[in-house]
Amino acid sequence: MARTQPNIIVTGTPGVGKTTHCEMLAERTGLRHVSINQIVKDKECHEGWDDEFGCWIVDEDKLLDAMEDEAKVGGSIIDWHACDLFPESWIDLVVVLRVDSTTLYDRLAARKYPEAKLQENLDSEIMEVLLQEARDSYAEQMVVELQSNTSDDMDSNVDRIEQWIMQWRKDNAEGASA
Ligand code: ADP
Repeated sequence: MARTQPNIIVTGTPGVGKTTHCEMLAERTGLRHVSINQIVKDKECHEGWDDEFGCWIVDEDKLLDAMEDEAKVGGSIIDWHACDLFPESWIDLVVVLRVDSTTLYDRLAARKYPEAKLQENLDSEIMEVLLQEARDSYAEQMVVELQSNTSDDMDSNVDRIEQWIMQWRKDNAEGASA
């Protein structure tokens, strides 16, 4: 069955603005903000807590099982700092948010990240790890890189993604020719 609502991934290094963007988009478009951290925790899709990295050790098979029904229906804005585990057939757009190192440093320091974890995330952003992961995992035309340094950036990103969603809905409405 074809989806009548798109599924979108919003990804990027911790602190780039994924949650903020997803919340604004969900409010404006009525799509669901799907926080993977929350699902992993609530549905216990993990093999325990990793003390060193301060995150859950995700059981990817369990996570995909937990998400499959919703993914088929469509309408999810998936918020996570990884993207390569979701099958390409589930996804319509991958947004990779990017940020300058000094801005990211300030945001992670405000979250009181330990120095090692902060440095690791800064390195990851500078080396474009998430952008590369997205490009390696999805067709080129599905991946969009957007800057998230200022609130003006955020407003224009949300406008742009909202426009894309409206166009997708028109193109995929029942009766629209492919
Ligand atoms: P993530 O979900 O990627 O970890 P958050 O959405 O939690 O990031 O954002 C981290 C912090 O940075 C929040 O305090 C948020 O308000 C701020 N922030 C994120 N994006 C922007 C932006 N484009 N302009 C200004 N502040 C931002």
